[in-house]
Amino acid sequence: MSTLLAAALALSLLLKLWLASRQVRHVRQHRGAVPPAFAASVPLAAHQKAADYTAANTAFGMLSLAISSALLIGWTLLGGLNALNEWVQDHTLQRFGPLAYQLALLTAFTLIGGLLDLPLSLYHTFRLEQRFGFNRTTLALYVADMVKGVGVGALIGLPIAALILWLMGTAGPMWWLWAWGAWVGFNLLIMVLYPTVIAPMFNKFEPLQDDLLKGRVEALMARCGFAAKGLFVMDGSRRSAHGNAYFTGIGAAKRVVFFDTLLQRLHPGEVEAVLAHELGHFKHRHVLKRMVGAFALSLLGFALLGWLSTQVGFYLGLGVQPNMAAPNDALALLLFLLVLPVFSFFFTPLAAQLSRRDEFQADAYACAQSSGRDLSNALLKLHEDNAGTLTPDPVYAGFYYSHPPASERLAAIERLSPRTA
Ligand SMILES: [Zn+2]
Repeated sequence: MSTLLAAALALSLLLKLWLASRQVRHVRQHRGAVPPAFAASVPLAAHQKAADYTAANTAFGMLSLAISSALLIGWTLLGGLNALNEWVQDHTLQRFGPLAYQLALLTAFTLIGGLLDLPLSLYHTFRLEQRFGFNRTTLALYVADMVKGVGVGALIGLPIAALILWLMGTAGPMWWLWAWGAWVGFNLLIMVLYPTVIAPMFNKFEPLQDDLLKGRVEALMARCGFAAKGLFVMDGSRRSAHGNAYFTGIGAAKRVVFFDTLLQRLHPGEVEAVLAHELGHFKHRHVLKRMVGAFALSLLGFALLGWLSTQVGFYLGLGVQPNMAAPNDALALLLFLLVLPVFSFFFTPLAAQLSRRDEFQADAYACAQSSGRDLSNALLKLHEDNAGTLTPDPVYAGFYYSHPPASERLAAIERLSPRTA
């Protein structure tokens, strides 16, 4: 197991470094001039800001990659998790029993991991985003978010962790099937709770007031066969200048959320086109397909964990000494979650490719139900506001991008609804 992990980690690091250096080189090479197709719509200063932001973000990605890889090796092969486990076990197992010991281990690991991530997260928000004018979070808000996040995480995470650990310990060799069922139920519950209970703890949601926009949005939704139940504006500007719109929840908890930053920047027609794109994801059942896909993958994951957790080599190979007199389920869970991303990384291009296909479909739907010209204008504005580069490296974009590069999206929209028509 240790050789397999080391090999996969080394390979993924080389691949990530190669891709990142390609991206930075490509963006820098094209920094001097706006691509001809955008020359009329994008100012040079915005293009150069996008190039600098992309380069800075990619460099930041490499820094956090180096740190997270070192931490992964530290937790596993160098024995960090083993030491933490022994310490927690000594202090909890005899006194509070096996379930409390395992929950304490998960909690301790999560808190230490969060603390170790904190400097990078602070740097990203208050240095990188700040430098490019995107950050609007204050330190007080950041700390309040963190405290709330830990509270909500504990409130939600501890019960589901306890349930899964209990199933692992008592449901027999097929525990993973039961645990998967619990996981699916838990996720469906979160989809209802997130928009109605959790998100309002972090942001203010006001019903959309603008009557002109409301009329357009409701007409669009009626045209597309959606019940326009909840239209909300969120105060995204409290934390960041990045704009967005999203569709959230399932069943009666379903709602449309516009960031206030989006409404400040786009005309009603452009907002309508952005929403039509989101509705396209629903009409083409992308949302349902992604959910079913995620549940299918998690079944695979639980089955794999079910097998791995019975292999002594899985623990020893990852630097942990299992205790035969105590349950090792929390340990297995942690090791699995630690090493899984190293292997799942290699499927990134496949997921990105599928996602890009969906984006083209949603754009086509938006062109049919709304104005293609408004959609292009909105995409250009959002791209500029988010300092997205117009000249990504094709290999990098092919590997990572969940959305097609702006030039490809705009060309596809242009084919569907030509500006000259
Ligand atoms: Zn989309």
